[in-house]
Amino acid sequence: MNMKKQGLLIVVSGPSGTGKGTVCDELLKAHPEIAYSISATTRSPREGEKDGENYYFLKKEQFEQMINRGELLEWANVYGNYYGTPLKKIQEKLSDGQDILLEIDTQGAMNVQKKFPEGLYIFLLPPSLKTLEERIRGRGSETDESLKRRLGNAVNEIEVGKNYNYVVVNDTVDAAVKRIAMVIDAEHRRVVRNMDLFEKLENEKKLNYGA
Ligand code: ADP
Ligand code: 5GP
Repeated sequence: MNMKKQGLLIVVSGPSGTGKGTVCDELLKAHPEIAYSISATTRSPREGEKDGENYYFLKKEQFEQMINRGELLEWANVYGNYYGTPLKKIQEKLSDGQDILLEIDTQGAMNVQKKFPEGLYIFLLPPSLKTLEERIRGRGSETDESLKRRLGNAVNEIEVGKNYNYVVVNDTVDAAVKRIAMVIDAEHRRVVRNMDLFEKLENEKKLNYGA
């Protein structure tokens, strides 16, 4: 039996402001063989963001339609806006043998984990809460109130990280990208994902060296 190997579902998650977006962008630049799952959202585009590239920017009614039609693998309300992961592309890429990366919040990641326990769940941590605060402030898109809310939530969200498979500290972007790439590489080498290699040698043994 020669079944095509499934791609790997890679979930990178962590508290808002940890640097998921930045790190995932660099990871994808260094590893163009990994597909990216573009989320749908009802939040407005930030400067420089493009529809169909960073997100699918939808109206609330359009998003609710996707929920009702069962087109989302998961969805969550994050800071007053809907965010969700379209299912179709993920199924296509995985059955095509391609890895696909999801950069989603912790609620979403835990919901995906229930449906895809065989996925790779990586939690990105800030080096410290002080650094997290500086990063959120530096991004400059928060009011004081929303900054406080994000920081308060971050502390609780960090606890959720204990349910993931791997933890990576985002001290420098370069180092975090390299660590994630190593984790992905290691995951590909798990015995359960490589039974075909054993099978191939067993077949060769049967053919050329007798049973
Ligand atoms: P998230 O996607 O987790 O909300 P972002 O990628 O938007 O986080 O990063 C938040 C801010 O922190 C951005 O201004 C980004 O440039 C900065 N940042 C991300 N990673 C690092 C890092 N390793 N060192 C310094 N600044 C970083
Ligand atoms: P931002 O508005 O800063 O782009 O994202 C806010 C939060 O929503 C981030 O933590 C981001 O990871 C998360 N997010 C982005 N896409 C999705 C998604 O499809 N599902 C879920 N659950 N969260 C998402």
